[in-house]
Amino acid sequence: MSFTVADIHRLIEDWAPSATAQSYDNVGLLVGRISRPVNKVLVALDVTPQIVDEAIEQGADCLLVHHPLIFKPLKRLTDDSLESSLALRLAEAGIALYAAHTNLDAARDGVSFQLARELGVKQPEFLSTMPESVVKVVVFCPVDAAENVRSAMFAAGAGRIGAYSDCSFSSAGSGTFKADEGTNPAIGSAGGPREQVSELRMEMEVTRWHLGKVIKAMKSAHPYEEVAYDVIPVEQSFRDAGIGAVGNLPAAVSLGSFLDTVAKVLDNPALRIVGDVETPVQRVAVCGGSGSDFIGLAMRAGADVYVTADITYHRYFEVLDQTGNPRMALVNAGHFETERCTEDLLVDRLTPSFPGVRFFTTKHRTAPVRTWVTSRH
Ligand SMILES: [Zn+2]
Repeated sequence: MSFTVADIHRLIEDWAPSATAQSYDNVGLLVGRISRPVNKVLVALDVTPQIVDEAIEQGADCLLVHHPLIFKPLKRLTDDSLESSLALRLAEAGIALYAAHTNLDAARDGVSFQLARELGVKQPEFLSTMPESVVKVVVFCPVDAAENVRSAMFAAGAGRIGAYSDCSFSSAGSGTFKADEGTNPAIGSAGGPREQVSELRMEMEVTRWHLGKVIKAMKSAHPYEEVAYDVIPVEQSFRDAGIGAVGNLPAAVSLGSFLDTVAKVLDNPALRIVGDVETPVQRVAVCGGSGSDFIGLAMRAGADVYVTADITYHRYFEVLDQTGNPRMALVNAGHFETERCTEDLLVDRLTPSFPGVRFFTTKHRTAPVRTWVTSRH
């Protein structure tokens, strides 16, 4: 069996749709051709010169990364800057570069779920599901064409609720229309009298990222020249995309003992923390990478401790109550360190779906920054 970058793209779209990425992000195929055959895929958190060397030495066809190499538009593809020179080298070597970033952060069993599990959390859940991710599509359709339209919409991704598919509701009624001159009506004739037709009102839920495809499929299966339909915002959100992760350790441990686990698992000997090390902790919230915006969410989720990175000084105050005591322990465990689990996550998730393709993690530590722990005290 042979595979291309397009097959990798399809699997990632299914698991971590690119539409769930943050608006500033730049995910998907960044360098190379989608039709490129793949046999060897190097997986890393970042693109660095060492990673490009490794990809070339190992004969990789594709480099799959978490952090996109290209964020801002590049004006030229030369050796002038680090990012353009790396993109040029990859293009010259014929290595495709694919990034799964904030879409993978937002995915069920994505970055934060993996981090939570590595820290001992059983059955993590999202800190919050993704708001405004679901809409309801209502379409009016003549009774005899309804099944066709319904099936086309389901096939395009509509009507999924949790583990159920093909979910819809139909109610019968009658529709009216009058076809003006110049139209090509499926029922009646142009310039004819007002028609009254037995129609079904069909409604189903659609995620925002399936909406375009669903509307297109609906229109092409529908017999009418002008299809009457509504797209309505709903309060529900998609359950398979969200923010962070939270869950319980099998048993409560002291914060100090939990921090030892964090330091060991994440290979970070110096953690910045708020909290009393004697306090018992069992409910653990995490967000791989920059998660300081979700400190409030973690507290509302009842977390005893929240592990994330990139916490700036003033944000540590957010966990303190009126008396200055921490309502929740807060741990700054490093951006690279809290996301490094993504490399194994991608390899483990993709390998079973691509027999014959070798996915392997880099042997390099791609973070330019390290922690200095002095021995002179
Ligand atoms: Zn990151």
